[in-house]
Amino acid sequence: MTSATERRIYFDHSATTPVAPEVVEAMLPFFTGTFGNASSIHSFGQKAKVALEDARRQVSSLLGAEPSEIVFTSCGTEADNWAIKGAAHFFEGKKKHLITSIVEHHAVLFTCNYLHQHGFDVTYLPVDKFGMVSPASVAEALREDTFLVSIMHANNEVGTVNPIGEIGKVCRERGVLFHTDAVQTVGKLPISVIDMNVDLLSLSGHKFYGPKGVGALFMRRGLQLEKFIHGGHQERDRRAGTENVAGVVGLGKAAELCQTQIEDDERRLAKLSGDLYSKLRQAISGIYLNGHESQRLPGILNLSFDGVSNDSLMQNLDLKGIAVSGGSACNSGMAETSHVLNAMGLPMNLILSAIRFSLGRINCEEDIDYTVSALGEIVERLRTVKRSQAKFGA
Ligand code: PLP
Repeated sequence: MTSATERRIYFDHSATTPVAPEVVEAMLPFFTGTFGNASSIHSFGQKAKVALEDARRQVSSLLGAEPSEIVFTSCGTEADNWAIKGAAHFFEGKKKHLITSIVEHHAVLFTCNYLHQHGFDVTYLPVDKFGMVSPASVAEALREDTFLVSIMHANNEVGTVNPIGEIGKVCRERGVLFHTDAVQTVGKLPISVIDMNVDLLSLSGHKFYGPKGVGALFMRRGLQLEKFIHGGHQERDRRAGTENVAGVVGLGKAAELCQTQIEDDERRLAKLSGDLYSKLRQAISGIYLNGHESQRLPGILNLSFDGVSNDSLMQNLDLKGIAVSGGSACNSGMAETSHVLNAMGLPMNLILSAIRFSLGRINCEEDIDYTVSALGEIVERLRTVKRSQAKFGA
């Protein structure tokens, strides 16, 4: 039996996941005996090349894509940057408008801001109170000179899943490229690049039990983008740089594992996060769910606790060994509130009291019960302190 103080519960799988043991095992030989450069023509290089191509097949199979449509990158951020800047530079001088949403990850938002500073027009679509983008708003925003629409599959803070297939259909009918940042959904929800009508899709290994520092961009066959990284002729001359063979092998193995486990994982996580939500609601008053009731990633639960700050909640939970994340980050004393919760129209008191639980394979029912009891005590204590501060004018 572990004592309460020794207990460590990880509810931050949207930030990163532990690497699956099978993934570590698959990667290890590529740090030792099988160390060749995949561009070398000798047998050392050819072994690495075969491993790369196996991984490409594993990743493409998870997405319902062709292996040749997968290009490995260093992370999800690079894939997002490449999709957006690569399309912008390809159309430069011909088309200058792109559409995204106001709740995208900064890898997309800041890339669009950068392009705006360099003469492109960007439309930032609003979202509804659940954080969802409507296909009608995309259709309305399209212009003659729109070259790209980039809308995330699921939001990383609240887990809301966008109607990507419908948005993709709107884009396809108007002949506009469609990119989706699927960093939070690949390996967690079934993905078909065909049904989703996407031309470009970003993913990242460390979000689905693979290693950090490796991702991929799905590029529909025949699609042309301006290069993002210049140098050698790797990745069929699409992305330069000696491949991270061990990382790519890990990404492939993680994709293969997800393909067999995705339905079980989904069911288990939906049950665990459903239990966490209902047990918390029974134990604590003044709790609000941020995000969609049903169109939500199964493992994400973003909750506001009226009357307590998320900083205090996170610190107190951490003292009890429970890791969660907050909707706002504090930078040099300046609170930067969540752009996602702001865009959903939440009042400031709920934005400042929001925390995200993101569950994963390593969590179990015991974690839920321990957390409900710990959080019950913490919230009660913090609210009592606040009430007495208000009473004595502190
Ligand atoms: N896009 C989304 C939706 C994310 O959640 C993240 C990471 O949190 C990224 C992109 C960036 O991915 P990476 O950490 O691989 O650069």
